[in-house]
Amino acid sequence: MSIEPPIQPLLPILGGGRFPVGRIFCVARNYAEHAREMGDVSAEPPFFFIKPSTCLPTVPGRLPYPPMSEDVHHEVELVVALGLGGADIAPADALRHVFGYAVGLDMTRRDLQAEAKEKRRPWDMGKVFDGAAPVSVIVPAAEAEGLDDAEIQLTIDGEVRQQGRTSDMIWSPAEIIAELSRYIRLNPGDLIFTGTPAGVGPVVRGNRLEARVGLLPSLEVEIV
Ligand code: MN
Repeated sequence: MSIEPPIQPLLPILGGGRFPVGRIFCVARNYAEHAREMGDVSAEPPFFFIKPSTCLPTVPGRLPYPPMSEDVHHEVELVVALGLGGADIAPADALRHVFGYAVGLDMTRRDLQAEAKEKRRPWDMGKVFDGAAPVSVIVPAAEAEGLDDAEIQLTIDGEVRQQGRTSDMIWSPAEIIAELSRYIRLNPGDLIFTGTPAGVGPVVRGNRLEARVGLLPSLEVEIV
């Protein structure tokens, strides 16, 4: 028996080319209002978790409703794509490591996550499933303007469900890169989901999600 190497997940780059995706790091509770809606009044700093790159949907724009859950939630997020790696990166030097930006959905099996929290178990099965991390085309950093204070929004079937501003992040993208690189060496190809604003909620089959961050091309996903 011979086993083929795993397929390298790729994302399209605006203007041409493909971005090879390594790991997908995610920031939890990076918007204070979302932390409060999740029942967290601790004012503790944000923290990290990871999704494997196999969470990128195999068919862009179509997300099969995952098994083992009856409460799958949307979380619209600004995604940072790294072009340079490093450890112990200084905040002032961090944005030099950014290749580009995209719009992502940190899809979450909220019922499994809630059960894990209650039982003090890892979140993984709440956050990791096939198609759990849809990401838009990547816009090179030089062409992505205004993301310091951009509207971040999610609509379902045209109705606004999540709305916020990227300036409301507790940790900015530069601070996230610096903090994460204290824990682990970052690599070119890594993605970072930077957290979601308030308004998370359930999706059902047939929903059409449109996720937008500022002037980045929007991400459209149908739940099938
Ligand atoms: Mn999230």
